[in-house]
Order: sequence, then structure tokens, then C-alpha cells
Amino acid sequence: MVKLSIAEEYFKAGKIASEVKEKIKGSISVGSRLVDIAEMVEQSIIGRGAHPAFPCNICLNSVAAHYTPRPEDDLKIREGDVVKIDFGVHIDGYVVDTAITLSFNVGYDAMVRAVEVMLQEALKVVKVGVKAGEVGRAIQAAAQRLGFKPIVNLSGHAIAPYTVHAGLSIPNTYTAGTPSLKLGQVYAIEPFATTQKGAGVVVNGPLINIFSLVARKPLGDPSLDAFVEELWARFRTLPFTYRQIRDLGDAAWLERIVKTLMQKRVLRGYPMLVEARNEIVAQAEHTVTPVENGVVILTE
Ligand code: MN
Ligand code: MN
Repeated sequence: MVKLSIAEEYFKAGKIASEVKEKIKGSISVGSRLVDIAEMVEQSIIGRGAHPAFPCNICLNSVAAHYTPRPEDDLKIREGDVVKIDFGVHIDGYVVDTAITLSFNVGYDAMVRAVEVMLQEALKVVKVGVKAGEVGRAIQAAAQRLGFKPIVNLSGHAIAPYTVHAGLSIPNTYTAGTPSLKLGQVYAIEPFATTQKGAGVVVNGPLINIFSLVARKPLGDPSLDAFVEELWARFRTLPFTYRQIRDLGDAAWLERIVKTLMQKRVLRGYPMLVEARNEIVAQAEHTVTPVENGVVILTE
């Protein structure tokens, strides 16, 4: 048995994530409601003794990231959709983050396979000491060889306890002057691809359904303070959505209090991210830890 350089919880969370991913592949079809998929994913995590590290993101077509359904969301998967499912599992704050793309459109099957190849090519260069930008180089080279564009303003990231995005970025293109990957650290690597017609860039979309606490200061209003303490008890600094707080009040009240707390800079919001030319986007993601001669993939 090799000595573990990361907490054992990461391996347990990774195993749960890979089981849930298999369950997703077997249970989604045309007609599935996004809200049912998200809740199935989150309940499957909880049923295995862990917690969602963030709300299950389900992004259709040109939506690249940060869409999760609200409780009343009636969106369903339709023939022709390209569906990205991105979810996180944590045990005592040790987070893994993984994503797959399911294609219900034969015209995009090649792009879905391409992001998987981009991810595998990235993982081949990961080891202790490699620069984050070299991982981006491998992703970019694979995308070009396969005829797609990487999304340049989405990236992989270091993970830290109770923190999904912990500072260091792992770009999806070659970038100079980046830090090296370190032993004992955990990273998510997540190539995104779009078509040659796409801008290869995402922009903010019209909705914000995902939030996280960024401050816990007294606000001089007992109901606001109590609400913030409840969010801290449930999520600490991890992202959450309306579906996970629907027991705290009705939809209109929750929307008001969330807006107020965003204005007071107690909450931050994560706007949905959309490909700038509305082209279809695919994504693949694993959470890994580098070792001297390669990489340990936690979420496969
Ligand atoms: Mn993710
Ligand atoms: Mn990620």
C-alpha cells in the first residue's frame, strides 16, 4: 500500500462520483425532466453517505456551465439535445468534481467523443511538477487535431477543503507563466469544446440559479442573520440553489432574500454561461491528484 498524499475522503468521494455517473448514463433519455435528473443525482450522492459539493448542473446545447433547474423548472431533454451533467461530491469538505456529456444528436457525437479525448490527452501529461499551461497545451492540441475549438475562458482548477475553485486555474489552451501541479494537491481538469463556428468563449446568460456564501458578517437584521447562519450550517462556502432551500420559505420570498444578500455582498451568484455565438458545447471532467510519474484519477 502506497502512502496516501491526500485525505482518504477524496477516494471515497471519487468512488461515489463514479457510481453516480454510471447511474446517470443508464437513466437519462429524451423526455427526462432536468429537475428530476438533478434531484436523482443529488439524492444518489446523499444515499451513499456523502453530500453534493454543489447543485447538479445540467446544461443543454449552447449553455456551457452554471445552469441548474429551479424547483418549478419544466425543461425536459428533447431529441437533438447535447446535455452536460456536472456534479460534485464531498465528504467532510473534501470535494471531487466530474462531468459528462450525453448526446441525443448524432451530429454532435464526434464532438462529445472529442472532449473525452481532450481530457485523456490532458491526463497523459499530468504529473507532479508539470505546469498548468502544459495541460492546456495538450487540450488545445487535441481539440485542433479533432477539428474543434476549446473554450478559452473556462478552465480546470485546484480544489481545497470546502472550496471547489481554489485559486490555481488549469487552462484549456497553452498559457505561459503558469504554476506547477503539486504532490498532495487535488485538481479538476475539464476541457470544453465547441464547433469551428463557435467563438470558443462563453458569456453570461440571463439567469442566476447558483449562489454561495462569501461573507458571514452581522447585517443588523435578525431574519437576514438567521438565514445566513442556516446557509452556513448547510453549505459553508459551497454553492447551493433554490431547490436546496425551498423548505426555508416560498419562492418569491427566497428570491427577494437572495437578491438582498447579493446586493450586500454576502452571497455571490454564478450566472449561467453560454457560448458567445450560441454554438453547441461539450464538456468532460475528472478530479485527479498528480504523483511522481503520472496521475491518479479519483472520479473514474
Ligand atoms: Mn464540474
Ligand atoms: Mn470543475
